[in-house]
Order: sequence, then C-alpha cells, then structure tokens
Amino acid sequence: MRFFLLFCVTLFCAQPSLGRDYPEFRLLKMDGAHVKWGAAEYGAGAEVSYALVDAARDFPDARNCRSVGPVDPILAASGVDRNAFDAALVQAFGAWQSVSGIKFRPADDPQSADILIGSDLTAQGWAHADVKTETSDDGIVRIERSLVCLSPAKLWKIGFGANPDAQDIRYTLTHEIGHAIGLNHASPQGQVMSFTYGERFIELQAGDIEGAHRLYGPAKDTMIATIPDAAPVN
Ligand SMILES: [Zn+2]
Repeated sequence: MRFFLLFCVTLFCAQPSLGRDYPEFRLLKMDGAHVKWGAAEYGAGAEVSYALVDAARDFPDARNCRSVGPVDPILAASGVDRNAFDAALVQAFGAWQSVSGIKFRPADDPQSADILIGSDLTAQGWAHADVKTETSDDGIVRIERSLVCLSPAKLWKIGFGANPDAQDIRYTLTHEIGHAIGLNHASPQGQVMSFTYGERFIELQAGDIEGAHRLYGPAKDTMIATIPDAAPVN
C-alpha cells in the first residue's frame, strides 16, 4: 500500500523540475506508476464520492493534509459565506466532470468518502492535495483515497479581483481536485494545473482537459443532442 504527496498552489511554491519544453499536462507518477480512480486503464471513467470533513481527523499515512478539520473557521476568518464555498466546490468538481469520464457524487457516509476536503490544521502553504494508492507496480495504479486541504492561515475569497492577497477558492479547489484525480503540475502558467496561481481564467484549459481525457476519457453525456425530424403535419 503506497501513499503520498503533493503540492501547493501558490506563487511561492517550489518549482518542480520540468524539461525545457513545458508540457500542457502531466500525469502524477508515484513510484513510477500513473495513478487514477476507477479501472487501472487509461481512458476508463470512474465514479468518485466526496465529503467535507465535519470534525478534526488525522491521516498519519498522508504526506500532506495529515491533520484536517472543518472548513468553517477558514471561511469565517476570510468572510466567505458557507453557501458560496459549497457552490464553488460543486463548480470545481463540475469542471472536471463536465469534460471527462470522471463523475463525482456526495458520499453517503463522509467517513468513507473517496475525496475528503477540509482545512489544513498543519497550516502549511496555501493548499495541498494528498493521494493514496492501493498498490504500486509498474503500471497504472488505482487511487484509494485523496485529501484536499486549504490553509486557515491564508486569506480566501470567492471570485477574482478584490483583495490581491487572497486566493480564489473555486480556482484553488479545481487545481487541488486535479491533483486528487491524478494530475501533476503542467507548465508554469497557462493551465489550471500550472503551479503558479493566477487570475486570468477560471475554466479548465486545453492541457487540463487533455490530461483528464488521458486518465478518464471524454465526457460521455455531453454529446450534442440531435433534434429528431418533426413528424409531418397532415
Ligand atoms: Zn498544485
């Protein structure tokens, strides 16, 4: 059983070593294997449950988000409405769901949710994700559990602009969920999965979508509906 990682989304984040030509997307690699939810097969869809942490929980086997609490104190400190946070979370999951074969649903039992979201009680950086996989070998391995945590030591906001010292929750959640489903940092900027926080776009970019397609295939329910020919009127 392997577990791990991951990164922050912040201007001050350590820059990963990338090649000269920056890729538009990169898949997470843990012990030499790409990781994903669902079948261990590129392009295979998956259904993943999520929940907000409702009480402090420790994850001693995690690299990041080892201690996670409810998001409410973060929101109160930043003056962010809980309903607005919930809407941003749905939009963040929806961004990935609308373009690829991964589907998200609220967990019936938050204790056993696939992806847990909360505040980072260790309060390092801005935000992190942690991915735990079932097994590790030289192929693609299934993700067993992911964590997404936001720092209570930072200022948060909903939407771009306004306070330049605050970071947008929806953008940050979309980025961290990208890690939680198996994507790594891409180019320094230009993608949601870039490691530099920016406020130039909120939607997934071409590289983000390409990465999601590589892991989960394209969305199956976004085919253009065809309108059947009208019956002749006699
Ligand atoms: Zn990141």
